[in-house]
Amino acid sequence: MMEEIPAFFLETDTSFGICIRHGNELHKRHLKKLYRKLMKLKKESNTVFVHGTGKRKTPLQRAVEQLQGYISRLKDYETKLHICGDRNSYAKTDHDATFMRMKEDAMLNGQLKPGYNIQFAVDAEYVVWTGESPWPTDVKTLISFLEDLREHLGSNYRKIVADAGYESEENYEYLLKNGMISFIKPNNYEISKKHSFQNAIWRRENMAYDAATDSYLCANGKQVKCEGTKKRKSRSGYVIENTVYACHDCTGCPYKKDCIRGNNSKQPLEQREKHFEVSKRLLELRAEDKERITSEEGKLLRMNRSIQAEGAFADVKETQLFRRFLGTGHLNALTETVICVLAHNFNKLHHKIQNGTQGRYLFPLQKLA
Ligand code: SF4
Repeated sequence: MMEEIPAFFLETDTSFGICIRHGNELHKRHLKKLYRKLMKLKKESNTVFVHGTGKRKTPLQRAVEQLQGYISRLKDYETKLHICGDRNSYAKTDHDATFMRMKEDAMLNGQLKPGYNIQFAVDAEYVVWTGESPWPTDVKTLISFLEDLREHLGSNYRKIVADAGYESEENYEYLLKNGMISFIKPNNYEISKKHSFQNAIWRRENMAYDAATDSYLCANGKQVKCEGTKKRKSRSGYVIENTVYACHDCTGCPYKKDCIRGNNSKQPLEQREKHFEVSKRLLELRAEDKERITSEEGKLLRMNRSIQAEGAFADVKETQLFRRFLGTGHLNALTETVICVLAHNFNKLHHKIQNGTQGRYLFPLQKLA
């Protein structure tokens, strides 16, 4: 439609002599202005608009109707964009819900369904805080969830244990600045144990780094040198500084096919060169975090995250059989979650009293004999 409108404006200029100046961009106000001018012309020329079969419309009436169509479509798009906000999608049946990839995938086609991303903060097996987020990925939810928790509980938890989906430079920095210690599994932690990862020559992780020259040594013995930095702003406004590395000596390299990825590139492989970007700050924070999660304390906390946090979700979804929200809207979703969480906590307290484990915060690490 936005491609049709400039042509329509030109047509009204030639047919009716109405010229609307709009610069490079066309807005709804320009369309409304043109509409007012066309209606004024209708009044001045005493044109009568006709309706029904067998009646011939004047060029002026056709132009006005076409313009009305554009204005109403533009209004419709604006409303939809307003509902969507920062999100990429929303459900027509529940404007607060966002399309997400669900774990349940009966059709095995990765179908997207409208939903809410529910978060639990678990302490000593009790869910101490819950929240819902419209973001389909966990990484964007951590900061707002912890802010919310602090606002309502009045204090922060010192040690934050989360799975790989929460890892980002912004999240690490936030925890550091707010006096919290991260125990977040790096998102390449599991895959980095695989042979396929360790043997992939294209991966930066498998190239030797030389801090003195700030360069990597590739599989062909060439230097992949630092070319400068690039700054990128996330949606939340956090600025990430990526360092760009490139190798300009890739011609005739026998490893090129395995080293340079991107089979869909329009440039032939022979003409391409190796380059990648990496955030040094993320690598630094990740290395510190990895040291913590692989320590004895890290292992204990990670094991307890698996048992306690995943256990709380399992209790709600499998024991209480609560797998779908009954109402629509984020407030209803949150209310239903809180009711489930209260049921979980009462149940947990009952079991703890029955088993005499009220004082237990963490399950001990099971040592292999
Ligand atoms: S393609 Fe370039 S960076 Fe990759 S191994 Fe060959 S020379 Fe090294």
